[in-house]
Amino acid sequence: MATKRRKRRKARRRGWYAVLPYLLGAVIGAAATGGLAWVAWTWERALDARLDPIRTPPQRYAWTIQPEPAFPVPPYARFLKGVRIVLDPGHVGQRDPGGTWKRGPTGLREAEVNLRVAHFLREFLEAAGAHVTLTRERDESLNLPDKEDLRQRVELANRLPADLFLSIHHNANSNPQPNYTSVFYHGTASDNPASLSAGRYLITGLNDALRLESHLECALLSDYLVNDRNGFAVLRQAEVPALLSEASFHSNPAEEARLRDPVYNRREAYGLFLGLARWAQGGLPRVALAAPKNGAVRRGGEVVVSLDDGLSARGGWGAEQVRILPDSVVVKLDGQPVRFTANLSKRELRITVPSGTFVGRAALFVDFVNIFGQHVVHPRLDLEVGR
Ligand SMILES: [Zn+2]
Repeated sequence: MATKRRKRRKARRRGWYAVLPYLLGAVIGAAATGGLAWVAWTWERALDARLDPIRTPPQRYAWTIQPEPAFPVPPYARFLKGVRIVLDPGHVGQRDPGGTWKRGPTGLREAEVNLRVAHFLREFLEAAGAHVTLTRERDESLNLPDKEDLRQRVELANRLPADLFLSIHHNANSNPQPNYTSVFYHGTASDNPASLSAGRYLITGLNDALRLESHLECALLSDYLVNDRNGFAVLRQAEVPALLSEASFHSNPAEEARLRDPVYNRREAYGLFLGLARWAQGGLPRVALAAPKNGAVRRGGEVVVSLDDGLSARGGWGAEQVRILPDSVVVKLDGQPVRFTANLSKRELRITVPSGTFVGRAALFVDFVNIFGQHVVHPRLDLEVGR
């Protein structure tokens, strides 16, 4: 009886052992599959680390991965030589009430980032021979009321006059999600044609440098979108081409962390710099009074204006060619269109001052577009109309 029971128990035990090899096999199999998957995953990652420019499909290159920092000055940056640029690192001159005002989620101050970017940008621009003026050098309040602080910043650009006024800012939103680039011009597109082309180049420069994931449907925006009918005070008061860049959002936690890094600030400055170098390569068209040089003219008299397309004076191959779009010439006297004859091969306009013009100071506006799509930087000429 007892042996029978033992035998039965033994058989039961043998039955359990019989399953063991299968179990072991299953465990080894799972481990092998897992191991293979791990090897494959590691291999994939190794491939990602050094993508093969010939064999890797383009979608495998992640846009947001920054290349090693390098800031070479391209040869075409030489066209910035002599260009007058005023950089305005936004804020701080205005009263800084502390707290969360213009600060990122962990307290990074926008004013401090703006200043670092401006300093780096000046370094690049000066290396290319541009004349750069900063509206503030330090991270210190000027203790001026906001209105006066902003007026003084723009006044600096108007007095030179600068070829471009660029106010450097970073954006913020109560939602921590958004992070994109925008560049603002003042008013309507026709108020600001010369600013627009610089704005387009700044956007592409920033896109390449920051490699943000999201982009607006249109990143070049009128300041009327933010401040209906008035725009930004700092742009509104500018009498020269003027832009305000909001490269990214310091209210986005990941972006705030990046903005703390001076190398990232330098990347941004480099993007703005390349944008400005490409803008300058397209030439900065200018107009001047050729006769009478002092602008004193009688009603019904004639004014001769010389046109500089910003390109031909460089000389070189094709310098004698007409590089002005003939249909783009616009002439206005105190806002009213006036008659003119254009001799574009001589780069000259002859304008008749209407006999009904008021006596006294009058603003002559002369604009045109060169083959790079660039408008006249300072289109306003002052006349003194006599009887
Ligand atoms: Zn700002």
